[in-house]
Amino acid sequence: MTSVADDGGWFTETIHEDCQQRLRNTRTLFESRTSLQHIIIFENPLFGRVLALDGIVQTTERDEYCYHEMLAHVPILAHGSVRDVAIIGGGDGGALREVLKHDAVRTATLVEIDDRVVDICREYLPGLSDGAFDDPRTELVIADGIRFVAETERRFDIIIIDSTDPVGPAVELFSDGFYRDCRRILTEDGIVVCQSGNIFPQRAEACDTYRRLRDIFVDASLYVVDVPTYGFGYMTLGWGANSARARSTPIETVRTRFEATSIGTRYYHPGIHRACFEVPVYMEELKN
Ligand code: SAM
Repeated sequence: MTSVADDGGWFTETIHEDCQQRLRNTRTLFESRTSLQHIIIFENPLFGRVLALDGIVQTTERDEYCYHEMLAHVPILAHGSVRDVAIIGGGDGGALREVLKHDAVRTATLVEIDDRVVDICREYLPGLSDGAFDDPRTELVIADGIRFVAETERRFDIIIIDSTDPVGPAVELFSDGFYRDCRRILTEDGIVVCQSGNIFPQRAEACDTYRRLRDIFVDASLYVVDVPTYGFGYMTLGWGANSARARSTPIETVRTRFEATSIGTRYYHPGIHRACFEVPVYMEELKN
């Protein structure tokens, strides 16, 4: 997966060797290499400010809520009594912002390997975290998430893996060993969710993630979210839980919990919560 900033002012993202997506870059606000990855933040008239890491779009101002709401609210409202949440990756702060909308959340621990992502996003994309890094419930840990889950003695009700695709420092975030460590640090009814790629161009990644979760957790599934800039079809999110209880929560219970929170959302609602686990036949087949 590579990208080039064309001299015609276009950012070109290669998400599969046979297809590319282009976004007009009207102004580069920041571009540099950290010790781990290439970062660019640029403006696009349709999507607002865009963050890309190693040539892959991570998030944009105008559609980030689709992804971040579904990463946070589906597991939290399915679980029903979440207190402690860990986010692995997610240095832009969007998932953290959504997690902290739940008053019941007591701690939110964000483990990001690259401190520069946090700093640069706070400066150029402040609306993404929207103050979440200053919330007293937030603990920011700059560390490799793989090592964190292997070593921590803490327990979490929800683990959100908001990672880059399985290249570079994120490769091991898609491994059996990492998922086993996640299972170890989850509470009894705990849930792990993870981004597992776009269903059509990255189907191998989605399949692989689902199979690993199925082998390791009591309950495993994929659910979907439509994010316009994650091109070429549904984005898949993986689900692994230490019990089947959360995913079988009646939708009326989810609705009651959601209404009790007064959380404002732009993508998530209880109907979407139910529907996101229903996938087309070609996706069901990927699970076999
Ligand atoms: N929403 C995004 C997507 O799927 O396109 C993910 C966004 S978030 C910015 C991804 C973050 O994961 C990056 O900031 C990256 O530094 C971080 N990351 C990658 N590997 C990691 C690891 N091993 N431990 C912790 N964070 C990691």
